[in-house]
Amino acid sequence: MYCPFCSATETKVIDSRLVADGHQIRRRRECITCSERFTTFETAELLMPRIIKRDGSREPFNEDKMRSGLIRALEKRPVSIEQVELGINKVKSQMRATGEREVSSELLGNFIMEQLKTLDKVAYVRFASVYRSFEDIREFGEEIARLDDD
Ligand SMILES: [Zn+2]
Repeated sequence: MYCPFCSATETKVIDSRLVADGHQIRRRRECITCSERFTTFETAELLMPRIIKRDGSREPFNEDKMRSGLIRALEKRPVSIEQVELGINKVKSQMRATGEREVSSELLGNFIMEQLKTLDKVAYVRFASVYRSFEDIREFGEEIARLDDD
């Protein structure tokens, strides 16, 4: 990065250490041109991408909303809350792994459906029918037929 004092491009790291319980790297740098010293902090980007809705508007990722959607789909199904939480964590990892600042609600929906599919097929179809708002009953039938193929 540029020296904040003289904007020279060459700086050298003179000290580097883990801080914040290892979640951050603190680097002491020295400008090769003006010899000023400054500190930078490096942290992993763990922010969840924002969601781009179908109408183009953006909203923050809402874990509670996802959880209640999953629980609704899994109502009266033989799936434990622990399994649901594991599924939620997997979706969150997938979201972060995209490395994007914004992802479409469609992609999020697909990640959730993948998890539901492994948790419970009935719940999967319930969720898919609401989420994808199937255009007609034929499309819904195709989705169920695809489940039988698995
Ligand atoms: Zn400088």
